[in-house]
Amino acid sequence: MAQLIDGKAVAARVRADVKAEVERLKAQRGLTPGLAVVRVGEDPASKIYVNGKKKAAQELGFNSWEHHRDASISQDELLALVRQLNADPAVHGILVQLPLPRHIDAELIISTVNPEKDVDGFHPLNAGRLSLGRPGLRPCTPLGVMRLLEEAKCELSGRRAVVVGRSNIVGKPQALMLLQADATVTICHRKSDLPREVGQADILVVAAGVPELIRGEWIKPGAVVIDVGQNRKADGKLVGDVEFQSASQRASAITPVPGGVGPMTIAMLMRNTLTAATGGV
Ligand code: NAD
Repeated sequence: MAQLIDGKAVAARVRADVKAEVERLKAQRGLTPGLAVVRVGEDPASKIYVNGKKKAAQELGFNSWEHHRDASISQDELLALVRQLNADPAVHGILVQLPLPRHIDAELIISTVNPEKDVDGFHPLNAGRLSLGRPGLRPCTPLGVMRLLEEAKCELSGRRAVVVGRSNIVGKPQALMLLQADATVTICHRKSDLPREVGQADILVVAAGVPELIRGEWIKPGAVVIDVGQNRKADGKLVGDVEFQSASQRASAITPVPGGVGPMTIAMLMRNTLTAATGGV
């Protein structure tokens, strides 16, 4: 049976470390990190995510502001808000919750965020820095996965890592981070021969958004499996992209869903905001 990688416990440690550093910053430099979250419209999932981020920021002693705008906001008005936050010295991190309404060019909005305040790590400059192996703010979910692998004492150097999914927010940055850690990396997508590729993986990270796409029998015995997927089934149950039961029979370590990668994303957002506040990338 695989060892469970407890994302909740690791995320709690990350948050406790951030909280302690925030207290030190306040005492020594009179500096309070500030996170501004922009939410547009009434997407229910966005509301839940934003509330979670605001709550975490408050618990850790940050200043946090939610700028909620009606879905009818024009692109120019939203750009003006982002520019105002860019110019505000109390705001160290800016997060524009996606998705945005269709009449707004999300790429343009993301590119307008000051890259040094881009705590989501989605700005093209930060994506470029990651691909060049230079310091910069990194996307929170793959950063959280790297931390889980570290906590699981998973050796990466020279080993085969397979990432299923090539989105700009998870799959691609994940593959680049694993590459930077000297793994030999394969990226899979809809056209890939999944059973063959997955069977090669010493480390498997799955971010496809397809419930239980990865069968346990494909997994190489002893592999470390990280399941990023969060899929809500008709009965309300949350399942990952990996068949958990059968995969746990073969893997040496595995993340559960929920309680694996999920809690890490917000924890790493807090870490990124602290990093942005101290200019420490
Ligand atoms: P996305 O839809 O943008 O990308 C999915 C990727 O998976 C695509 O590149 C696609 O090519 C690939 N894919 C889809 N079906 C496939 C198949 N049958 N075979 C092989 N590849 C396939 O999704 P995303 O934003 O990267 O998110 C992926 C999953 O991770 C979702 O379930 C999402 O909810 C979850 N997620 C979780 C967190 C978290 O905090 N835990 C954060 C972000 C995303």
